Amino acid sequence: MTYILNKQQIALRNEIIDFSHSELNEGVEDRDRNETFDRALWKKCGDLKLQGLCIPEEYGGKGLGFENMVIALEALGYGCTDNGLSFSIGAHLLACTIPIWKYGSEIQKREYLPILCDGSWIATNAITERKSGSDVFKMSTITSKAKNGYILNGEKCYCTNAPVADLAVVYAMTNEQKGALGGVSGFVLEKKYFEASEKIEKMGLRTALMGNVTFKNTEIPNSKLIGKEGGGTVQFTKSMMWERVGLSAIHIGTLQRLLDEVVVFVKERKIANQSIINHQSIGHKLADIKTKIEAGKLLIAKAAFLIENNLKANIAASMAKLYVSELYKNASSNILQIYGASGYIKNKDIARSFRDAAASTLYSGTSEIQKNLILRSL
Ligand SMILES: Cc1cc2nc3c(=O)[nH]c(=O)nc-3n(C[C@H](O)[C@H](O)[C@H](O)COP(=O)(O)OP(=O)(O)OC[C@H]3O[C@@H](n4cnc5c(N)ncnc54)[C@H](O)[C@@H]3O)c2cc1C
Repeated sequence: MTYILNKQQIALRNEIIDFSHSELNEGVEDRDRNETFDRALWKKCGDLKLQGLCIPEEYGGKGLGFENMVIALEALGYGCTDNGLSFSIGAHLLACTIPIWKYGSEIQKREYLPILCDGSWIATNAITERKSGSDVFKMSTITSKAKNGYILNGEKCYCTNAPVADLAVVYAMTNEQKGALGGVSGFVLEKKYFEASEKIEKMGLRTALMGNVTFKNTEIPNSKLIGKEGGGTVQFTKSMMWERVGLSAIHIGTLQRLLDEVVVFVKERKIANQSIINHQSIGHKLADIKTKIEAGKLLIAKAAFLIENNLKANIAASMAKLYVSELYKNASSNILQIYGASGYIKNKDIARSFRDAAASTLYSGTSEIQKNLILRSL
């Protein structure tokens, strides 16, 4: 397990933090206010292969192992104050690009991975439906057989990147009788196969656009199936495992940034000639957050180690996700409290991050769902 970074890992971390500072952070306030996704920034990230961190170089990726990918994502979370952009990259990489690499056919990999890794294309992962919610495999997006493929009908909701997506990784019911046990299949579909809604306005992560994805008697050829028919449950479960660890790494990086910023603030902010860091109630909050960040890093490192070594990692991933997302939400609230009114001002990093953090206990499986999974393993 990676406790202490080696020279190459430090260089990787520094490269991404420096890139974020110089290329990604300018204008974040306006993008957040206007709910703008900036495709030029996406392409810049693609030039660094951020969208393909762990994809092998032969498919156009950066070729990192899972543990090094997590270090890179943590650096992105730390350096990039546009949390929506980091989240977009995470959703694209962890729930779309990696599943195509792991389960797609050679033709699909050659066709899609290079353009997904270099920032030419944007992907959305589409599984959630309004009726089934957290019980994802109770989906009603369903296929019927066509001559050389399938006819797809249904609507997916809350899909990150959907309004700007060139490609969707979609899960649909191909055999209702089998249900989750072999009746769900994954498909990789270009834009011509789906209709994406306008962006859905939301309270946080406003630079990551969210939308619905609809299929109306859409004919899709067999070649769009990912892996075997009925393989969707395993593919989606694995993709959530990668996503839970990868997004947690981004969040822990963001939290470390928020902590570093507030430490500067509490030393400078004086009330009655006293720095507020001298109030034990404030200092202890910061000590608690620092300790919990370290604990979160260890949970992430363990899950990443298990994944990299092909060991069972689902529960470790759920524990990392549960712990880090709850920490992100609660600690950003505590940090906001320390700033007083100056933190509540529109477009302060902490004000934005507080709104962004609120979603982290919802996506990629809510905290309650993570607890159900952890409990089931006991
Ligand atoms: C910012 C954001 C980005 C997202 N991106 C995507 C995406 O890219 N693709 C995609 O497909 N989806 C995406 N989602 C949707 C997300 O996966 C769902 O919101 C999530 O799975 C929960 O579903 P729901 O919102 O319908 O809540 P519900 O399932 O209706 O849950 C409501 C409440 O009930 C609780 N609950 C439900 N079932 C149980 C249970 N069995 N035990 C205990 N408690 C339970 C939940 O924890 C929650 O508190 C995104 C959501 C957000 C907020």
